[in-house]
Amino acid sequence: MRILFYAATILLSTVVSAEAQDREPPNGEAPRLFLDEFRPVPQLQVEAHPLTRSKFPCVNMHTHPSRLSAEELRELAEVMDAANVAVSISLDGQAGGRVAEHLRRLSENAPDRFVVFVRMDYRGDGDPEDFTTWDVNQPGYGLRMADKLTESVRLGACGLKLLKDLGLGVKDADGRLLAPDDPRFDPVWQRAGELGVPVLWHCADPIAFFEPTDARNERWEELYRRPEWSFYGDEFPSHSELIEAQMRVIARHPKTNFICAHMANLPVDLERLGKLLDEHPNMYVETSARIAELGRQPYTAREFFLDYRDRILFGTDGPGTPDKLNPQFRMLETFDEYFPYVDDPTRFPPQGFWNIYGIGLPDEVLRQVYFENALRIVPGLKDAYLKRVEILNEITR
Ligand SMILES: [Zn+2]
Repeated sequence: MRILFYAATILLSTVVSAEAQDREPPNGEAPRLFLDEFRPVPQLQVEAHPLTRSKFPCVNMHTHPSRLSAEELRELAEVMDAANVAVSISLDGQAGGRVAEHLRRLSENAPDRFVVFVRMDYRGDGDPEDFTTWDVNQPGYGLRMADKLTESVRLGACGLKLLKDLGLGVKDADGRLLAPDDPRFDPVWQRAGELGVPVLWHCADPIAFFEPTDARNERWEELYRRPEWSFYGDEFPSHSELIEAQMRVIARHPKTNFICAHMANLPVDLERLGKLLDEHPNMYVETSARIAELGRQPYTAREFFLDYRDRILFGTDGPGTPDKLNPQFRMLETFDEYFPYVDDPTRFPPQGFWNIYGIGLPDEVLRQVYFENALRIVPGLKDAYLKRVEILNEITR
């Protein structure tokens, strides 16, 4: 829940004291501002159509509800109903039998609202501090993990989730980062295909996170606030190396569907992303936490959504609250101009210092992005969705 870390922005005010003198006004006029203090209020007067519900009942492909209390889960169910979110995918299930506990907790507190994906389990019973003891570094890992996936699916899971730690965090017994296309994972990708469940994969991160955190970096504020998100330096693979490795996996397993999280971390280059989608028919993307990027290029993004309408899925990341849902509804459904991509004027824009524009998608494309594509590739989702839609219709009638 990135939102929680927002308080850390205040740290920006403590920038090195040597620079404090620079805050003195040049000619005895108003004092200078620090970047994090700047909250310009646009004087622009244009038509605005803020939205609090999606036009069609939607599926939120990317949520993390595991840290919510029982009460917060019950509140979230109400938020979903109010926003017309029929079903959300929880990406927080643990692989193997442990998924049952997560499923039970969700169905007790937010009945029928969630479908669950499980995480790739690299560690097993190993020591968190010692990669040599991790299951991923023991012989036969791939098949063991594949069997855990089978067990999870038997208990009700509908997909596999990978975090960016594959490629940027998980190490082999010699202390080297494992590449996303390491062959030890092949049995897992293959099993997902055999089970008919998709793999939702967060690989790499925004390209700016692989660049130096300096005055030229357009995500400077965010990297200053979260320095651990910087992957600049020799100890990390490049952004392209990670994406290319991920694509080799997707090409090697044409019978497995892969949903590349966060617009495959290529929303700044939709032409390149389009080519990858052309080359890999089993590849999909989801929009979570990337509307700042999509909404600053409305002409290009609209073309992209029209061209790849059957390959794009709707998602928010985080618990799936209105601050993230509402601007995304507005971006997808309206032609509104220059509005914030997070519904909270007190916050510094968390993913780049700009506002966004709507891309006004036609209804048939909205239907595909909001739910049709998801129902096609996530098993079990259709029943859950139809059941909730019936109830949502009752509520709004
Ligand atoms: Zn996530």
